[in-house]
Amino acid sequence: MPRSRGGESSVIVVGAGPAGSTAAAYLAQAGLEPVLLEKAAFPRPKACGDGLTPRAVKELIYLGVPIDQSSGWMRNRGLRVFGGGHQLELPWPALGSYPDFGLTLPREQFDQRLAEHAVAAGADLRTNTTVTGPLLDQRSGRVIGVTAQTADGPAEFRAAVVVAADGASARLATNLGRPTKTNRPAGVAVRARLRLTKPPSHPGQLDWMESHLELWDGVPGQSNLMPGYGWVFPEADGVVNVGVGSVSSKPSSSRINYRQLLRTWLGSLGSVWGFSPDDVIDPPRSAALPMAFSRQPLYARGLVLAGDAGGMVSPFDGEGIANAMMSGRLAAGAITQGLARAAGTAREAALRTYPEAMKDALGGYFTLGRIFVALIEHPAVMRLCTRYGLPRPTLMRLVMKLLSDLYEPRGGDWMDRLIATLTRMVPAA
Ligand SMILES: Cc1cc2nc3c(=O)[nH]c(=O)nc-3n(C[C@H](O)[C@H](O)[C@H](O)COP(=O)(O)OP(=O)(O)OC[C@H]3O[C@@H](n4cnc5c(N)ncnc54)[C@H](O)[C@@H]3O)c2cc1C
Repeated sequence: MPRSRGGESSVIVVGAGPAGSTAAAYLAQAGLEPVLLEKAAFPRPKACGDGLTPRAVKELIYLGVPIDQSSGWMRNRGLRVFGGGHQLELPWPALGSYPDFGLTLPREQFDQRLAEHAVAAGADLRTNTTVTGPLLDQRSGRVIGVTAQTADGPAEFRAAVVVAADGASARLATNLGRPTKTNRPAGVAVRARLRLTKPPSHPGQLDWMESHLELWDGVPGQSNLMPGYGWVFPEADGVVNVGVGSVSSKPSSSRINYRQLLRTWLGSLGSVWGFSPDDVIDPPRSAALPMAFSRQPLYARGLVLAGDAGGMVSPFDGEGIANAMMSGRLAAGAITQGLARAAGTAREAALRTYPEAMKDALGGYFTLGRIFVALIEHPAVMRLCTRYGLPRPTLMRLVMKLLSDLYEPRGGDWMDRLIATLTRMVPAA
């Protein structure tokens, strides 16, 4: 049956990344038949490390997305951290609240699977549909839909609620006067994917997500130490995702050429991993990492911000997928409650529970992250931390729990209780 160009629905979700597809899947499960508008067609490439910590795995399990290893997922046991001449294996913590393994899957496949999951639940996915702006109620200024460019020409989509899950560019939010907050940290990262042509140099090398705390602009130890970090995330079928990134306490543009830095780093990693720059199968791609709720309010006047559109990447480790999926889940919950009520005050009260829930979950943690970034952006502090911190396994287990947001929110051991107390002591971001 031919599809109408635009139309009316209960909810519009803009962007079928992890935030948008998760929101659409939960909304569809609740019987709301959301329209999911995506400018690209799947599969599409994406700049990402493809790494999922146990927090993201937990979201996949909530959602019911199959994660068995036969379908391209690669499991990992934790982080292998390198820095200051030390290396340390830190298994994901054994917690009641999270699984004890991480996963990788190329985003090309990951995003397609999540979008298909949303469609299977009942979402109406429209690919090749670029949202060009909001539709506003002239009297109240409330968002009542969006304009879009489809393969068949311009179209209008109308709904009671619109979810902006359009990623770091956040065009819809910007268009509606929700700019990036200048006092939030921001990151930039670049990655490439390579095929391994030699077996790993030591057993178990592919079981860990590698995190490198020192980046040199030439020969390691004999050149300049650059601000930032690097990673090697093993994927299925002998492929690795390799990238570098950095974070600063203000969203200013860095003068460092990170693509060049990645090329240099690939060269020095080659002796350990056995690859050369010629083994690149997916060329370098870079993007911004908006952090610590860098766009707010997360709900106002009919428009919900989810994932990168609301700046939800963790300032601690640059992870954004778990928070994007969590925001999609919590946004869908608040919208479902809101649409079950009459339009007006009662509905608005339900929709406003979404920013509250996000702040409860991540606000204190993001505030600690802002302090963390302000400290580690000084190379001297970072050098001290790697030199004196890495040789202390207990301290590093605490740091790992903090950096990956993996602690028991209630109870747990002394480390869990310490982190939970700290996140409650500071004001929400
Ligand atoms: C190099 C790099 C490495 C990273 N590595 C990791 C990692 O290993 N693990 C991790 O957890 N996070 C990582 N991140 C962060 C992570 O990629 C993001 O936080 C995550 O993709 C956010 O999901 P999202 O759904 O909010 O946005 P996106 O994934 O960006 O999805 C937005 C979607 O909206 C669509 N869209 C945009 N504009 C429009 C429009 N106008 N109309 C219709 N559709 C539109 C886009 O095509 C896209 O499909 C990395 C980021 C970078 C840059």
